[in-house]
Amino acid sequence: MTANPGRRLLLVHAHPDDESIGNGATMARYAAEGARVTLVTCTLGEGGEVIPPELARLTADQEDALGPYRIGELAHAMRVAGVADFRFLGGEGRYRDSGMMGVPDNDVPGCFWRADLDEAAGHLVAVVREVRPQVLVTYDENGGYGHPDHIQAHRVAMRAYDLAADPEFRPDLGPAWRIAKVYWNRMPRSVLERGLAEAAAKAPFPGVAQPSDVPGVVDDELVTTVLDGAGYAGRKASAMAAHATQITVAGEFFALSNDLAQPLIATEYYQLVRGEAGPGRPETDLFAGLDTEDGPGTPRSVTAHATTTVTVTEETAR
Ligand SMILES: [Zn+2]
Repeated sequence: MTANPGRRLLLVHAHPDDESIGNGATMARYAAEGARVTLVTCTLGEGGEVIPPELARLTADQEDALGPYRIGELAHAMRVAGVADFRFLGGEGRYRDSGMMGVPDNDVPGCFWRADLDEAAGHLVAVVREVRPQVLVTYDENGGYGHPDHIQAHRVAMRAYDLAADPEFRPDLGPAWRIAKVYWNRMPRSVLERGLAEAAAKAPFPGVAQPSDVPGVVDDELVTTVLDGAGYAGRKASAMAAHATQITVAGEFFALSNDLAQPLIATEYYQLVRGEAGPGRPETDLFAGLDTEDGPGTPRSVTAHATTTVTVTEETAR
């Protein structure tokens, strides 16, 4: 069962539910394979809409109780995915949901969009130096699709990647740690177009999403890494369904509160943006090319993990 106890994967997301939509199969697969999977969620998603009518009172304009409720949904999703280590940046409720771009919530003091970058990154540096992940997963510089909290999650994750490796930064947070590989979540355009066409034909929702509704869509050539989640499709669907205030799952499709169908795709796609790619194009493993001290199955022996620099020094085989 624990084939890869030395593998440590850190994911940084904006709201509860983003992790299951974007990386549900990846998280379940690595957790099942014995890797340590750590999720850091930056806000409680207090500003979200609510799908079930009986829970509509939770929204920010009524009881403003959605945040704590979504902590419970996230805990449920992570039980399904087999992930024990999930945390909120700076602690529960430290940063508030900023709402969609351009709404008044963007200016509320305490919202994530208004956070001081180095202070927020400092909270993440503490996690990085404690967990010492070899792989970090987050969004691209547009947050995948322009949501302020997603853009900020990207900035905080990339800033923490730099600062965690800098021994001069906050030595009180532990010894410096260099994350070997950083990936951004991606959705290849051709895969999405096929999925949306299928959704238009078969999904039990009143409409279908546009490509611009889906985060991380890029031309296929930008995708470096493909994670086969076929064996974890059921877990991904169940983890998504655990976020019932946000997501309706129906077979191979799902919809957010806008009721627009999207394909539920178990294969998950990534773009390597820091570190060296492992062998094979595309990669099929986020840890490809890394020595993670896990014995059989990793042919390379590279460096020590003790101090500030863990660098994959090999020339990538071509
Ligand atoms: Zn989100």
